[in-house]
Amino acid sequence: MPLDYGAAIPVNSISEEYEYLAAHPCPRCGGRWRVRVQALLQDAQGRHYDRVDVACSQCGERTVFLFDIQSLFTKQKANK
Ligand SMILES: [Zn+2]
Repeated sequence: MPLDYGAAIPVNSISEEYEYLAAHPCPRCGGRWRVRVQALLQDAQGRHYDRVDVACSQCGERTVFLFDIQSLFTKQKANK
């Protein structure tokens, strides 16, 4: 499945990612997601994304969430 950076979900913190996962549980059984792999990515423009591969803790359904975490990096730069 190719990653669609344009569809990335903007978040302002890593904890917001987990809130999003909790708010959007497995579409098949409503089970909670278990994070399998988390990876920091950058697109051709140098924008930062967090790719989170999850599996349903109940039925094993797998999916990938892509979060736009650019605001975390912008904020860090502004503070320095
Ligand atoms: Zn499930």
